[in-house]
Amino acid sequence: MRLQIRPLLAGLAALALSAGIAAAQNFPTKPITMLIPFAAGGPTDVVGRLIGEHMSRTLGQPVIIENAVGAAGTLAGQRLMAGASDGHTILIGHTGTHAAAVSLNPNLRYRPVEDFAHIGLVNTNPIFVNVRKDHPANTLRELVTWLKANQATANNAHAGVGSVSHTTCLLFHSVIGVKVAGIPYRGTAPAMNDLVGGKVDYLCDQGVNVAPQTRAATIKTLAIAQDQRAALLPDVPTSTEAGVPDFKVIVWNAMFTHKDAPPAAIEKLNGALRAALNDATLKAKLTEIGAEIPTAEQQTPNGLRAFIASEIARWTPIIQAAGVRIE
Ligand code: ASP
Repeated sequence: MRLQIRPLLAGLAALALSAGIAAAQNFPTKPITMLIPFAAGGPTDVVGRLIGEHMSRTLGQPVIIENAVGAAGTLAGQRLMAGASDGHTILIGHTGTHAAAVSLNPNLRYRPVEDFAHIGLVNTNPIFVNVRKDHPANTLRELVTWLKANQATANNAHAGVGSVSHTTCLLFHSVIGVKVAGIPYRGTAPAMNDLVGGKVDYLCDQGVNVAPQTRAATIKTLAIAQDQRAALLPDVPTSTEAGVPDFKVIVWNAMFTHKDAPPAAIEKLNGALRAALNDATLKAKLTEIGAEIPTAEQQTPNGLRAFIASEIARWTPIIQAAGVRIE
């Protein structure tokens, strides 16, 4: 009996395996959906669309963008987890949704390291502090002085509690010792509209979204939160030059798919991401808008997983020191 069943089972197993391999090798068999956790036209959306367009050429299937906005961007991660595991849905998560949210949000419904398949880091982006055009502050020091006097009434726009614009200004506030209530938007695209319209006082935002407005002088950009000035906006002083040296932060976007996606699908998605990041024309475009290309190691699934773990470890004490939690 045994002798008869064994070859049959082995045959079935081999058949199932080869069917699985064939399906994965044909991946993708239909359009890819790219979930963007924030509003169209914002920093994550702009970079996601550029990358998605290039990936669609490598993969031979359209990449359809879906702005799955909600819960400061964490809804998109929940959507990915609850959906199909065939690798046809990908997500652009970021510093907020996949690092800062862990310590900020005790009800976060996923674990960024364990609950997703990691595809690769997409880009990093510098953060700038920006005020409305007619704001009394013309320098970061003047903004600090103004905030100390006006923290009870100041309006800080952000993209939801736990978003990058929220957490980076939170760090700024904790460094200078103020507490300011924020005004949440569905992304920094609409937040920036209101800064340009003079409806809010200030916004910490990524270079991708900031530079066009700064150049058009529709807002005032007071500092970049890092040690070097950026080619993107070379006249903007660093936070060190502007007198707040402890305010330094880099933010990033990263690509994920379902935890149980077939390994061959993950490999193809990663190959398409790396093809996009290493394409000279796209690279030039990304650099032009201030998005920086990650290292070769960070562009791999293992590199991203290790990076996310290190980012969670980096943000946890910052959030704890600021004493903020979403309840
Ligand atoms: N990255 C978000 C966006 O694309 C904004 C944020 O996290 O601050 O709008």
